[in-house]
Amino acid sequence: MPARILDGTNIANDIRSEVAAEVKTMAAAGVRPGLAVVLAGHNEASEIYVRGKVKACEQVGLYSEQHTLPETVTTAELLALVEDLNRRDEIDGILVQLPLPPQVDSKKVLMAVDPAKDVDGFHPVNVGLLSTQRPGLVPCTPAGVIEILKRSQIPITGQEAVVVGRSDIVGKPVAMLLINANATVTICHSKTRDLWAVCRRGDILVAATGRAGMITRDFVKPGATVIDVGVNKVTDPVEFQRLFGGGLAGGAVSNGKREAAFRAKGYTLVGDVHPEVAEVAGALTPVPGGVGPLTIAMLMYNTAKAAKMRRGSRMPELTSK
Ligand code: NAP
Repeated sequence: MPARILDGTNIANDIRSEVAAEVKTMAAAGVRPGLAVVLAGHNEASEIYVRGKVKACEQVGLYSEQHTLPETVTTAELLALVEDLNRRDEIDGILVQLPLPPQVDSKKVLMAVDPAKDVDGFHPVNVGLLSTQRPGLVPCTPAGVIEILKRSQIPITGQEAVVVGRSDIVGKPVAMLLINANATVTICHSKTRDLWAVCRRGDILVAATGRAGMITRDFVKPGATVIDVGVNKVTDPVEFQRLFGGGLAGGAVSNGKREAAFRAKGYTLVGDVHPEVAEVAGALTPVPGGVGPLTIAMLMYNTAKAAKMRRGSRMPELTSK
């Protein structure tokens, strides 16, 4: 039986509605939570992400502002902007869109963000709060992974969870959230021996490697829940055919919509999980339309949460908190 598809778009819409209702209540009490997004230089992907974030703010009733700095910006200039945003009371969340231009000391800039306004949850203070299970701001994509699991009624307590990827942004915080939710967690990375065998232990398998389709069916325990965090742009027809079959690179037949879109645009977005995994997994997040939409929804949630925490009250907990 093919895997149940976990629809991230629907879950994200539910969360956005919950945040919008909370923002309305806060606005009635005279507080409109505000997000400042900082963008530096010209990066097409970053510009698309930032547009999406600003639009999402409008939709849930948050105040937002965008600061776009030139490619030549210095660390000192960015630090001055962050300091100013830290001081302004109407700004509750500060998001510095990565990557920053190469001459900028990104770590220094991220460290300068007031932890109370760190809606990305990257500051070591928030990392420490998460690992000690204290209230704080949790990174958006990892928090979204947990929301997908919980809102899809996937059991976590006592389950074996395997996370492939150990980045500070995704792998480590996902693993920490799974531990906090009582899973037994293994973290894998590029030096893990017999990766496929370790992955096959997972009742829950989270892939966050940035390697298109590397998690093939051999890596997956039959019936497991597979969460695909990866977003990879595939432009090579041979790679497309490895993932989707079809007729692009001399294959027998066209395989429909995705191939037609690839022919038209010259690329397709693919996760870290090979599509064939749908034949063995019990449940699977699609790419696109899985984890991605949750990232923005959780950013909205974090901005409202930061506004409340800074004023000494607490945001209603989502299912995962
Ligand atoms: P990253 O910083 O590049 O980390 C990748 C991790 O995967 C590293 O820990 C690396 O191991 C591991 N890895 C790479 N190749 C591997 C292999 N062959 N076998 C085992 N482990 C391997 O990437 P990231 O920022 O965590 O992002 C991961 C993916 O998630 C990317 O596709 C990214 O675009 C996507 N993402 C999506 C969202 C979203 O909203 N959907 C948000 C953030 C990221 P080492 O540590 O040993 O190098």
